[in-house]
Amino acid sequence: GSPVVARDVRRTYYMGESVDALDGVSLSLPAGSYTAVMGPSGSGKSTLMNLLGCLDTPDEGTVEIGGRSVGDLSGGERARLRGTEIGFVFQTFNLMPRLTAAENVTLPLVFHDGVEAGRHERAETLLSRVGLGDRLDHAPNELSGGQRQRVAIARALANEPTLLLADEPTGNLDTETGNEILAVFDELQAAGRTILMVTHERRVAERADRIVHLIDGELAEIEQLEGKR
Ligand code: ADP
Ligand code: ADP
Repeated sequence: GSPVVARDVRRTYYMGESVDALDGVSLSLPAGSYTAVMGPSGSGKSTLMNLLGCLDTPDEGTVEIGGRSVGDLSGGERARLRGTEIGFVFQTFNLMPRLTAAENVTLPLVFHDGVEAGRHERAETLLSRVGLGDRLDHAPNELSGGQRQRVAIARALANEPTLLLADEPTGNLDTETGNEILAVFDELQAAGRTILMVTHERRVAERADRIVHLIDGELAEIEQLEGKR
């Protein structure tokens, strides 16, 4: 697979005065890499996620996903790229409360044509991968926090995305349940997924191969972790 690359990216917000949320950040996510992003509140973590996730475009510089420069795309093309190439996992799971686990997981398949047949099998495959093959017809409120996050991870994988973006995925979970979710991410990396995870917790970040430290919108350091590739 091709890497996801941010080149010399700047994102400026104007709120009376202008703020460089990101200022000249370059970062390459090789296929199969696992990167954690740390930094104080306001350092640009969310802005970086939004750019790499095709939710936003840079004011300067480029973001490339699947060999395409995101800034060159129309809004519709960008939405499609986001829907097919990016999987999102959030702190608060963001499941649809009235849909079953299986229905939540297959929501992203909207970008595929004529998949109505086979949808349930697809959900079963995806949920089995995260250890929830026996919870297909459960509603989110019938699942524990850890199980909800597993459903969210299965949903993020529905389109076999190039990049999995996780924003504090263990932030709403107790330590033990959080560790189970981190083990799922370990398995996903072993299966060749490219992962970028934002976290406040050093312990969580150390599951990755490297930690990107943001300070005041700048990439202060890329810390390669011992014993990781
Ligand atoms: P976290 O650091 O937990 O990811 P958020 O991403 O919600 O928190 O917000 C990070 C920072 O960005 C906060 O300082 C917040 O005030 C600011 N922020 C986020 N969205 C906006 C917005 N629409 N307008 C102004 N500031 C924002
Ligand atoms: P983090 O996620 O590390 O907390 P953010 O990327 O949310 O940081 O924010 C970086 C900077 O950009 C902060 O100064 C924040 O207030 C500002 N910011 C973020 N989003 C917006 C927005 N939508 N409008 C105005 N300012 C924003």
